[in-house]
Amino acid sequence: MPKIIHYRKNCIGCNSCHEYSPDNWEMDENDGKMRLKRSCQKKKYVWVANISEIEMEKNIEASKGCPVKIIQIIDSSGKKIAP
Ligand code: SF4
Repeated sequence: MPKIIHYRKNCIGCNSCHEYSPDNWEMDENDGKMRLKRSCQKKKYVWVANISEIEMEKNIEASKGCPVKIIQIIDSSGKKIAP
C-alpha cells in the first residue's frame, strides 16, 4: 500500500498540500502546521498514513509543491517516488 510520510516539524503552514489534496491534509489551528489525516505518529515529528493508488497522484503533486520538501510519497513496493 502506498504511504505518505510527513516530517511535520518544519511545516510552515503554507496550505499548498491541502490545495492539492484536501482529503488528506487539514490545518491544525493550534500550531499553524498541516496535519496529515488518518495518520499514525512514528517519531516525535514524523507522521505516516497509508493511502490508495488513487490518492497517490494528487499527493505526488503535493509533495513536489511543498516548499520545504517535507512530504514523502512511498509506493506499494516501498520505493520513494516523491519529491
Ligand atoms: S506544503 Fe509543506 S510546508 Fe506547506 S503546509 Fe503542506 S506540509 Fe506544510
